[in-house]
Amino acid sequence: MKRFISLAIALFMVLGMACATGAQSAFETDVLVIGGGGAGISAAIAAAQQGAQVLLIEKVGYLGGATIMSGGKIPAANTKLQQEAGIEDSVAALARDILRPSNYSARQELVYTVAENAKGVSEWMEEMGVEWRLMDSLYYGQTEYRMLHSVDNGAGMTTKMIDYLNSLENITVLFEIPGTGLVTNGKGEVIGATANSKELGEITILAKNVVLATSGFAANEDMLRKYIPEIVDAYPMVAPGATGEGILWGMELGAAVDNMHAYQGYGFYCEGVGAMDQGIANRGGIMVNLNTERFCNEYDGYSQIAPHVIAQPKHHVYLIFDEANAQATNLTRYEEKDLLIKADTIEELAEKTGLDGGKLAAVVDAYREGIEKGEDVMNRTKLPDSFEAPYYAIYMTADLRHTQGGLVTDVAAHVLTEDNEVIQGLYAAGGVTEGFSTHAGADYMSGNGLLQALVFGKIAGERAATEVRGSAEYVPYTGTGLDNYK
Ligand SMILES: Cc1cc2nc3c(=O)[nH]c(=O)nc-3n(C[C@H](O)[C@H](O)[C@H](O)COP(=O)(O)OP(=O)(O)OC[C@H]3O[C@@H](n4cnc5c(N)ncnc54)[C@H](O)[C@@H]3O)c2cc1C
Repeated sequence: MKRFISLAIALFMVLGMACATGAQSAFETDVLVIGGGGAGISAAIAAAQQGAQVLLIEKVGYLGGATIMSGGKIPAANTKLQQEAGIEDSVAALARDILRPSNYSARQELVYTVAENAKGVSEWMEEMGVEWRLMDSLYYGQTEYRMLHSVDNGAGMTTKMIDYLNSLENITVLFEIPGTGLVTNGKGEVIGATANSKELGEITILAKNVVLATSGFAANEDMLRKYIPEIVDAYPMVAPGATGEGILWGMELGAAVDNMHAYQGYGFYCEGVGAMDQGIANRGGIMVNLNTERFCNEYDGYSQIAPHVIAQPKHHVYLIFDEANAQATNLTRYEEKDLLIKADTIEELAEKTGLDGGKLAAVVDAYREGIEKGEDVMNRTKLPDSFEAPYYAIYMTADLRHTQGGLVTDVAAHVLTEDNEVIQGLYAAGGVTEGFSTHAGADYMSGNGLLQALVFGKIAGERAATEVRGSAEYVPYTGTGLDNYK
């Protein structure tokens, strides 16, 4: 990949010009990938590895999208790292863990496909230089130690993939070229896309096949208001490019969409500091709203907690914890920003936070009683040994990370119509597609976002490079399925 200063030079040199009529220029490539996050990078590399000439256009001035912001964690079963650690796992267990939060209502063939391909995609990424470590903690919802964590998080993972992409001569990347729409022929097949160039104005890029990798709509307030109003007021920890247009273009062509109400949030965000350590809640911290009430089980999934926090007055709450918890937590960044409130008594804590002293004392007494009985009013399944002074409080909200709904695809990343027909020439992967976390709400298992992007990005790139537009067929899931996994 060469970083071109001039779009015109890039397009002439690498792709050749199809035609230049009137004010609009048209160029040609084998595979056009729109969007350069995890899905788009994977698709471009996979297509190039099949020998295709690939053009990747990216709206902003860098590659990576939400992928580069991410924790860089994906679950995979039966990996080399698990074997070295003596851990026995199975694809069935991974698939079941992904399906559980949606009560098995997510499309199972998508889940089986990512569960089956997670190990392979992690090894494919290793070949590009990505370094994995096996996490030594069970992530929420997982029944086995299987979380692979990239060295240097999402940034480390994405940088290695970009370096590899840069080494491939048959990929051209153009920055600050937002795709503006899909181009179809008389048969309704996708034959390219339009894009906006500061240098050339509106251009048309014709392609044998197009991969949409533009992600979801977490940065589009209108779409959030329409589909997920309960999370609009969350702190937007989102990629700026996630404005949802790829989903809208697909819908204009008659593509089906699903799970548009689903998303991943994170229930612990402190303005001035950023995402917080969920361990404070897991170790026994309780959340109290500005009316001095507990309102949810704090020992729940980090995404699942987010809408509960946002539903409280002013969308903010206090996370309250005790000395033993504080001792186990690195609180330096809160102290440095003067965001840690400490008090020797509950009355003093109420004074310092503005919470109601009588109500706060009652909340803490009830919590202590629950600890003694082993029965918490919010159904916490993990309680601390005790809850003793001094007490601490941090003022916090929740954040939104990405949306989990979009274009419906088959397991080969073909975009489908409402009648399950393949839209010829169009492939999609990652956040622009229907996720498999849940139909609506924040239910989510860690790793779903990246698995969706990386596994289906690779599949989309391979298919787009090797299939002939006009003869692509719906691909059903033909694996053995959950019940038959060993
Ligand atoms: C803070 C944070 C932490 C996360 N941690 C994890 C984690 O540890 N594990 C996990 O599984 N998931 C995680 N996620 C979710 C995960 O990052 C996303 O699900 C995943 O990166 C989506 O990949 P993508 O390629 O579809 O989208 P992105 O990586 O966002 O890439 C989409 C790209 O398309 C570009 N684009 C959009 N529109 C256009 C257009 N019109 N023309 C051209 N380009 C366009 C965007 O600018 C962007 O670069 C996290 C998300 C966030 C925000």
